[in-house]
Amino acid sequence: MKKSTKISLSEKEMPRQWYNIQADMPNKPLPPLNPVTRQPVGPEDLAAVFPMELIKQEVSTERYIDIPDEVLDLYKTYRPSPLFRAINLEKVLGTKSKIYYKYEGGNYSGSHKANTAIAQAYFNKKEGIKRITTETGAGQWGSAMSFACQHFGLELLVFMVRVSYDQKPGRKLLMNTYGAKVIPSPSNMTAAGRKILELDPESPGSLGIAISEAMEVAVQDPYTKYSLGSVLNHVILHQTIIGQEALLQMEKTGDYPDVVIGCFGGGSNFSGIAFPFLREKLLNGKDIRLLTVEPASCPKLTKGKFMYDFGDSAGMTPLLPMYTLGHNFIPAGIHAGGLRYHGAGVLVSQLLKDGFIEAKAKMQRECFEGGVLFAKTEGILPAPESNYAIAAALDEARKADLEGVSRTILFNLSGHGHMDISAYEKYFENNLPDHELTTAEVDEAISKITF
Ligand SMILES: *Cc1c(COP(=O)(O)O)cnc(C)c1O
Repeated sequence: MKKSTKISLSEKEMPRQWYNIQADMPNKPLPPLNPVTRQPVGPEDLAAVFPMELIKQEVSTERYIDIPDEVLDLYKTYRPSPLFRAINLEKVLGTKSKIYYKYEGGNYSGSHKANTAIAQAYFNKKEGIKRITTETGAGQWGSAMSFACQHFGLELLVFMVRVSYDQKPGRKLLMNTYGAKVIPSPSNMTAAGRKILELDPESPGSLGIAISEAMEVAVQDPYTKYSLGSVLNHVILHQTIIGQEALLQMEKTGDYPDVVIGCFGGGSNFSGIAFPFLREKLLNGKDIRLLTVEPASCPKLTKGKFMYDFGDSAGMTPLLPMYTLGHNFIPAGIHAGGLRYHGAGVLVSQLLKDGFIEAKAKMQRECFEGGVLFAKTEGILPAPESNYAIAAALDEARKADLEGVSRTILFNLSGHGHMDISAYEKYFENNLPDHELTTAEVDEAISKITF
């Protein structure tokens, strides 16, 4: 078989700026609200939780924001990341379409999360912060942040969703190796955690609960701040380095994608690859589809409701205008831990509502099937989360073949699955159940939203 084509960029060609979609959105996102006063929150309301530079980025409408040299230096240890044409996968499919993927698993954390972890640790350090608290689902975010904090001399406390803590001990040990302290959530360390444990001592936890715990600890100490690995505007901003590079790499191939695909947890890897292409659509009239894929067991984009809701289960965050299943929703324990979040980032939510992007939901077994085919043909074992993007790319190629056309498909391979090998074992043993949330269950989850 012919080798897959790798399209590299040199360090010199690496973009030096992040792209901020807020500059170009036709409808600007609605403001976050204070849950008590129902007034828009100002920067000062967020200052107990985030450093000022990140708050500025959160609300900025500047189109481009410079990447600081200290952040670029670490980026350069693994960026620009490679873009591949999946020739071997195309052959096995017998498709007329071209399939490209941007690989974000080739760094210390094994996922795209390093792109924002490095930036967030840097901006906290610069403002004199000593300790960071955060949550992690599958553990990719926690490991990304652990090394970033170690590098910049910050302590890190990670609340890890209980079900992942039990499923993925390797991720916990990786975080420990980088110097972080890891606690299963819900825990007895916080009021938010104790409240959940009182109701259900066996609670599998959720990202919403872990976020409440991490925020509760952060607001108690002026030298501790909280850090989030997805959802927020500044996180998505940092991830646009992916799409900025991909645009340059696609240019080198002479092809232009008809569709750009990413899996969806809170929106950061999808937005990271898609927003620079969306800019080309909005400003230069490029004809392109942007498609994101979520699990059928956690379908906030396809079955959730666009409304104001909390980002965490205890209601510590501002109210955010987003597609949500309700902040108390506890998703089924599927193996794509990074996709088990009840809400969607504000920017993606507004763009989906306005019809600039598309979303669909898929079941986990079909996604693992796609991931195994990808591993066999391209040689990279994908993260369970990334399997959703792969499965959707396969759908697009098959659809094009049925229509008798050739399309160019680009997807984000958000991470590798080396630490998730036990999920693959379950798949091979036929022990990975499909789970789809019904409309009635969604209605029930949403009816429980109170604030
Ligand atoms: C965290 C994670 C995701 C999901 O989060 P997004 O913010 O939606 O990107 C997807 N893939 C991998 C590998 C992850 O670690």
